[in-house]
Amino acid sequence: GLILAIETSCDETSVAVIQDGKHILSNVISSQIEVHQRFGGVVPEIASRKHVEVITLMIEQAIAESGMKLKDLSAIAVTQGPGLVGALLVGIVAAKTLAMALDLPLIGTHHIAGHIYANQLVHELEYPCMALVVSGGHTELVLLENEGSFRMIGRTRDDAVGEAYDKVARSLKLPYPGGPHIDRLASVASEALALPRAWLEADSYDFSFSGLKSAVLAVINQTQMRGDTLNEAALARGFQESVIEVLVEKALRAVRAYGAKQLLLCGGVAANRGLRAALTSRCEAEGVPLLIPPLTLCTDNAAMIGAAAFLKWQRGEYSSLDLKAEPSFSLEGWMAAQVQG
Ligand code: ATP
Ligand code: MG
Ligand code: FE
Repeated sequence: GLILAIETSCDETSVAVIQDGKHILSNVISSQIEVHQRFGGVVPEIASRKHVEVITLMIEQAIAESGMKLKDLSAIAVTQGPGLVGALLVGIVAAKTLAMALDLPLIGTHHIAGHIYANQLVHELEYPCMALVVSGGHTELVLLENEGSFRMIGRTRDDAVGEAYDKVARSLKLPYPGGPHIDRLASVASEALALPRAWLEADSYDFSFSGLKSAVLAVINQTQMRGDTLNEAALARGFQESVIEVLVEKALRAVRAYGAKQLLLCGGVAANRGLRAALTSRCEAEGVPLLIPPLTLCTDNAAMIGAAAFLKWQRGEYSSLDLKAEPSFSLEGWMAAQVQG
């Protein structure tokens, strides 16, 4: 199966051509980060407009770089949700147009299934496996008992990890997106400020980061009121250590409880050096195989959408041409749906 995949859920316009859910023939990405930077976050209306400006070019480039012809394609995949509704629509309209013009099946795809199946572009997955999804909008532990079976066993009750990173960075007046800046600050800190850990109930796999975020803001305000200089690096490191400790503990506990053969780290925050290092050493110590995609496949890209869409293609489950954007799409719901096109 040769799938052309389109991703426009947030601020990256990306198109890829993927063979059999595993081999990347092309994966072109146009990022809007610079456009949104001066607003300190993604502005939905601007995101949609930018997608419209570049989507056609991205499709042409992805085809050209793949070395394939349009007639070689087997299906058109597109991110159906979750994401910004206006941004999603741009990809969906482009995908429908291609599917109709080329008379190919259309496959609406779940964005988080994409982040998880990004691992399949570089590793052999073994089931059951556990996915720790850490991104701008999601923080989840997902059990995959078999290929394409998703069971959410834990999720954030408030902020996503990436969101907490970006908010903390913003209060330190660091540019958007703040995650990488906090990561860098933390790595040069000589000490870590003591901050709370949100373990929640003893048996819970859920997460919560808003209390930690408030604790960080309180430190910043108090330091300011006292007229002291803030040790930003120590604060960044304290924040990062709190986040990482909880993520690592809960992920490893979930791996043991469900007998997972592998732990998959997925989503944009998988780029965090502190998190990668902590998970790597902990998994080594406990003999758990850890899979992490290369950086370009951790953040938003269409290759991962092509990898996830292959699950549906194999089953012959296609979407109808009146497919709608699903801004808050459920992962379990996506795989259960068997719409025939
Ligand atoms: P979702 O996938 O949930 O819809 P998204 O697609 O916007 O959200 P991603 O593109 O997967 O999110 O990831 C972006 C997030 O990753 C941002 O919040 C960014 O700050 C964070 N991030 C990127 N690099 C790092 C890093 N080194 N450390 C911490 N966070 C990081
Ligand atoms: Mg992004
Ligand atoms: Fe994402």
